Amino acid sequence: MKWAATNFGHIVGSRPLDVITARSAVAVGELLSFAGPRGLAVSARGGGQALFRQGQAHGGYVVDMAGLDDVRCEPAERTLTAGAGALWRDVVRAALAEGLAPPVLPDHLGGSVGGVLSTGGYGGSSHRYGLVADWVREVEVVTGTGELLVCSPDRRPDLFHAVLAGLGQCALIVRATLALLPAPTHVRRYRLYYDSPNTFVTDQRRLARDSRFSHVAGQVRPDLAGSWRYMIEAVAPHPGRPSTERPRIDDEPLIGELDHDRDTEEIADLSYREYLHRLDRDERLLRATGEWDRPHPWFTMLLPEEAVPSFVPAVLSEDAQQGLRVCGTVQLRPLTGRALRTPLLRRPEGELLCLFSLMRTAPPGAPDVVKRLVDANRALYERARALGGVLLPGAALPMTPQDWRSHFGPAWPDLVHAKDRYDPYRVLTRGYGLWA
Ligand SMILES: Cc1cc2nc3c(=O)[nH]c(=O)nc-3n(C[C@H](O)[C@H](O)[C@H](O)COP(=O)(O)OP(=O)(O)OC[C@H]3O[C@@H](n4cnc5c(N)ncnc54)[C@H](O)[C@@H]3O)c2cc1C
Repeated sequence: MKWAATNFGHIVGSRPLDVITARSAVAVGELLSFAGPRGLAVSARGGGQALFRQGQAHGGYVVDMAGLDDVRCEPAERTLTAGAGALWRDVVRAALAEGLAPPVLPDHLGGSVGGVLSTGGYGGSSHRYGLVADWVREVEVVTGTGELLVCSPDRRPDLFHAVLAGLGQCALIVRATLALLPAPTHVRRYRLYYDSPNTFVTDQRRLARDSRFSHVAGQVRPDLAGSWRYMIEAVAPHPGRPSTERPRIDDEPLIGELDHDRDTEEIADLSYREYLHRLDRDERLLRATGEWDRPHPWFTMLLPEEAVPSFVPAVLSEDAQQGLRVCGTVQLRPLTGRALRTPLLRRPEGELLCLFSLMRTAPPGAPDVVKRLVDANRALYERARALGGVLLPGAALPMTPQDWRSHFGPAWPDLVHAKDRYDPYRVLTRGYGLWA
């Protein structure tokens, strides 16, 4: 029970009435047919990566999806079907065994299939291939009234589009079928450093526009002089095996015209599996130091690219963000509007976007510090919105129904319609706070 009351955020907790282990999709349906008419809150729990109230079901039921973890790969059809409680590392294992992989994967593979699809899911290849959710062929869901339904772009499309990046508002996902593509066996990874945000953005824009790299991400890192350095991490498939002697593929066509600092560039060859599991080592380290179990008042926005060179340095110079110099990560990665197709993923106007994420760790036993950082998130949210920025849902940020209404904008009426139809008792995933 204590387990269900908390999550990776370690900021807010609440006691559900009970935690139910999902043994089958039918059992989830039975629970909802009971809870729905009684108005009892129900939320799914997958990998437990929520940062705030998103996964909580105060006075209701948390459904532990971990038991729905079957993964079946169909290489001939290039698809994979996974239970919603399977983790992305289970998906990767099954797909790579057949030489295949989902076109987009979250960076960290410890999230659940259902949880990541409910927010949309971004990863290193999102500049080219959009969201994890953009590659879903079909989902099986349980609605707020306990109905078990299958939907796809052609079958009940209103429900399909209300579920993907739909924050668990209209149905709980119990199974998803994903498209796969052939996976490279090896990749070459480039880490390129910049002192100026303008040069960094110019090069990120180049890489987001063409397809020379399969994966492009970025970070802002503190330097010893008290300033910040910008880093592009770009990855391209290559045919060779990793070795101490780099295979003779020419780096020039990939990075020759870029304006990074040549003296500090880092180039490494990895198997694709190693690359996909790149955050496992960080997780082990953070678990060992205890940081994994501390409060995480994280905050992520999508920004119009032109706002980045002034907004990002201004934010990072603020007192509230100085903890990031010591621990945590600042992500700054390119996305392209045309690749993002899931309707409920809201995004800024324009073609070139940047995902800006402040992944902070607060000290243990210091609720005042956590509160200050959550307040700082709220202030940032307001400022970024004024520049055309859009929240990536899931942050450590209290949101009102009015905030959500303006967040979804033109997509709001369809979401309300789907909610009325599929969760008329409004019991599902209340922790996001969409409804009064
Ligand atoms: C260390 C870390 C790294 C991350 N990296 C990435 C990343 O690279 N890319 C990315 O896109 N996101 C990333 N995230 C965000 C994460 O993917 C989302 O928070 C996601 O919703 C987590 O899902 P979960 O099941 O693991 O978490 P949970 O806390 O179990 O669930 C999160 C939310 O999803 C709902 N949910 C869970 N299962 C279902 C279901 N079956 N049906 C409907 N709703 C459901 C829950 O009720 C809750 O509201 C990261 C988070 C962490 C903590």
